[in-house]
Amino acid sequence: MPLIGTFKNNLSDILISSRIGLEETVIIFNCLAIKDQINKRFHIIAGLLVNCKMRLSLSIVLLLAFACANATRKSYSCYKVIRTDVLSKETIKGVAPLQHRPEFNFWSQPMVGRAVEIMVAPQHEALLTGILRRMKLNPTVIIEDVGREEQLERDYIAQIKSQKKSSREVTFDNFMTFDEIQAYLAELVVTYPDLASLIQIGTSTGGRPLNVLKISNGPGKKALFTDAAIHAREWITPPVALKIAFELLENYNINQGLVDLLDWYILPVANPDGYVYSWESDRYWRKTRSVNPGSSCIGTDPNRNFDFHWGEEGVTDPCGETWPNTRPFSEPETAAMSVFINNTLEITTYIALHSYGQLLIFPYGHTTELPPTFDELNGHALEAAAALEAVSGTVYEIGTVANVLYYSYGACRDWAYGAAGLPLSYTFELPSNGFGFSPPPTDIIPVVTETWEAIKVLAVAAAGAVRP
Ligand SMILES: [Zn+2]
Repeated sequence: MPLIGTFKNNLSDILISSRIGLEETVIIFNCLAIKDQINKRFHIIAGLLVNCKMRLSLSIVLLLAFACANATRKSYSCYKVIRTDVLSKETIKGVAPLQHRPEFNFWSQPMVGRAVEIMVAPQHEALLTGILRRMKLNPTVIIEDVGREEQLERDYIAQIKSQKKSSREVTFDNFMTFDEIQAYLAELVVTYPDLASLIQIGTSTGGRPLNVLKISNGPGKKALFTDAAIHAREWITPPVALKIAFELLENYNINQGLVDLLDWYILPVANPDGYVYSWESDRYWRKTRSVNPGSSCIGTDPNRNFDFHWGEEGVTDPCGETWPNTRPFSEPETAAMSVFINNTLEITTYIALHSYGQLLIFPYGHTTELPPTFDELNGHALEAAAALEAVSGTVYEIGTVANVLYYSYGACRDWAYGAAGLPLSYTFELPSNGFGFSPPPTDIIPVVTETWEAIKVLAVAAAGAVRP
């Protein structure tokens, strides 16, 4: 009887065909294995590194197979990331709708003047490349085996964690789990009780707290709200949120002026269930983890779930990565954020932390028409991006979402500006430096350092802004 399993070292799915017992076991390492039908109860440990589509006949193969009580992480073995040619005003119209198809997982957002990067499973690769070739977009493979890259990332992170010398929760030398982030927030509140407090603004579908860190040294101030990891796989974003907390509290002697200036509300993980899931089960998970009635596909794109021009795109497939659900604020995470921002009237400014793209963008996403306060939004963005660039030369593109990228609907940034009435609202798409959602941990300090300079500029603007 054939056994189907996943290779513990995860370079490739393995199809094991036992012909004459163990002595004539044939192992077919096949990237085109029927991934979705893999029985994940079985794992095979073998001390071999193999390439895809490699067939080995072994006279004796020592295999340890054991049943695993729980389903394990999703395998991205032999998934590829494909890059297009630079998109034009014409070709973007054909590419952008592909974002909503479940077969295609967009890693970057379609944008005129840039290539777009799309992850695809082996069984859908020909479909994608066919579509792109018909548009004359010359698909090029930039990651041959996402599963291998993911394994390398996991090994790297584990290695750093094993060498952790400091007892401090945050050192910005590695990505942090949800629990580690919560522990750091708790540590800050205990260490700086006069400045820091935790506000649980809600609970995720899975029962995890939506903890906002409030930093304040006195009443009567305007405030800035920022969130990270509303898209689960964007692991570079919580460190930026925590960098803000770190600078304001642990470097209070340097940065007291910024706390004198305004109050800060920081939500380092806006999608806790998705974030945990991306660590434990599916590295490239984007959405929440709520059930969609009538569908086997889990989750909603929380950043398409806010009630401002919500759902105008007519996205109909719950399996798609940008599924906005059947109604706005269906997700407890987005509902809690909206209630908190609506009720906390001193908040003038919203900053969404995302990756990736090196963009600093602002409303609107639903139209290319400029917002009524374009000059103000654009002016602060230019100043912030200049401060960021001055650190180490990282250049951001600036503009309204629909003009810089393409149309999008129901994002928190647009809701904050257009519905909640916040005068300033921005999204940072942080850099990937060519590593997609998996920049090496050594990139964290450069990214958080330069982004902090931009956020300081926006904080000054926040203190001077008036929420009607
Ligand atoms: Zn995002």
